[in-house]
Amino acid sequence: TQSTRPQRLLGAVQKNATRGDPRSVVQAIDQFCRQKEWAMNVGDEKGCILDSVVSEVNPATVLELGTYCGYSTVRIASLLPPHAKLITLEFNPDFAAIARQVIAWAGLEDKVHLVEGASGDWIPKMTEQFGVKTFDLVFLDHWKDRYLPDTMLMEECGLLRKGSILLADNVICPGTPDYLEYVRSSPRYESQYFKSHLEYTKVEDGLEKSVFLG
Ligand code: SAM
Ligand code: MG
Repeated sequence: TQSTRPQRLLGAVQKNATRGDPRSVVQAIDQFCRQKEWAMNVGDEKGCILDSVVSEVNPATVLELGTYCGYSTVRIASLLPPHAKLITLEFNPDFAAIARQVIAWAGLEDKVHLVEGASGDWIPKMTEQFGVKTFDLVFLDHWKDRYLPDTMLMEECGLLRKGSILLADNVICPGTPDYLEYVRSSPRYESQYFKSHLEYTKVEDGLEKSVFLG
């Protein structure tokens, strides 16, 4: 029978990772993607930068745009302080179904709220549906042409406070030129580039960390 890449990735987690051990889940996925099949997870190299930002911000509320198989979700959720909450959005139901199982394998289902649907539909409903006033940290890693409109939507909806951090993946490869131009030139942001490589390759890519100044 045919299987999909996300299903094979889940299989690698179930075979090689220990239930309840997020690090082993991350490792099993990285090993699968380096040795078997490339996949669009933030990956181990940029993942270390993601980890350090999460640890530094120590957020109580996190929004992730683009869950895919839950790799970055597991990285982020495993570093959150007690009672912190991560909302992650994914509009592909097949990916969401895999991510739920990956997150559960890591033992992190209590920290993560996986919401199925499009970012543009859900961002305006965050306060009403989930009681979130503002996000301390937002990880942008969905389709690249959505970074800028969704950032402007989060601003309009009052979901960013002075000091909220936006961390954007793939700002070089595939690239998000309109978003980069916006956060780098707007007086409402203080922005910094972290140079790295596209997941599981030697191609340049990086993360852009932007502080919302209010
Ligand atoms: N953050 C994940 C990780 O590092 O493990 C990888 C996410 S992958 C690069 C991007 C995901 O965003 C895809 O699964 C895609 O289906 C989803 N996506 C793209 N545009 C979206 C949108 N507007 N709303 C919700 N999900 C979206
Ligand atoms: Mg990415």
